[in-house]
Amino acid sequence: PPGLYIVATPIGNLSDLSPRAAETLRRAELILAEDKRVSAKLLAHAGARAPMVTYHDHSSDEDRRKALDAIAAKAVALVSDAGTPLISDPGYKLVRAARMAGLPIFTIPGPCAAIAALTVAGLPTDRFLFAGFLPAKSKARRDAIGEIADIKASLVFYESGPRLGDSLADLAAVLGDRDAAVVREISKLHEECVAGGLADLATQYGDAPPKGEIVIVVGPPNERETTQEDLDTALRAALAEMSP
Ligand code: SAM
Repeated sequence: PPGLYIVATPIGNLSDLSPRAAETLRRAELILAEDKRVSAKLLAHAGARAPMVTYHDHSSDEDRRKALDAIAAKAVALVSDAGTPLISDPGYKLVRAARMAGLPIFTIPGPCAAIAALTVAGLPTDRFLFAGFLPAKSKARRDAIGEIADIKASLVFYESGPRLGDSLADLAAVLGDRDAAVVREISKLHEECVAGGLADLATQYGDAPPKGEIVIVVGPPNERETTQEDLDTALRAALAEMSP
């Protein structure tokens, strides 16, 4: 049926394309792709033959209007280069416009590097903040980290190899030596997860920038709230000191 289909695609291993995602791509009458060359391989793998049009969040309002016309009339699939569209990837403006126009929107869930990293990091998963990419410059990066430093949740960042050491160093400087994990090349041949304190990880990766795609997971602040019992204990100790 007509509508906008948000299709998650593999983040490294083609076998992670779900049967439903493949079928949706095969049935789509138009495919909006972040980069046509990148998606061509996946579409061939899925046996999808619909025409492809480039779509990203810098696309013009005119492009978006054309896309909305298509969505009203036929099955239109949105894919990004890898993983779940809209998650540090294009699509938000289009989904918002489709929602406001009352058009049907369907999600075909699947791989997402942030969620996959959380499942292997060994850090709390009950509350987490996905913070996307940190700014490239150190001052802006430290400010961005400072804004979320007090949040009582694990923090999840996307990062690239060359910047990893600097980002870990800034995370350690602003957040202190929290538990963290660097998760790399998920679902690929050289998948690895290195867990440790932020300071050690910063030293390790500062010396040797790794290759490939990376997710950083940082544990929540580990300071304990001061309880009434703590205050009573401290008060008793102080009074005991004072008595002759
Ligand atoms: N939409 C994608 C998703 O659902 O994960 C993310 C797109 S974002 C432009 C690309 C970033 O995601 C990379 O720089 C990296 O931080 C992370 N990423 C993507 N694939 C990955 C993988 N296989 N292993 C680790 N991180 C990955």
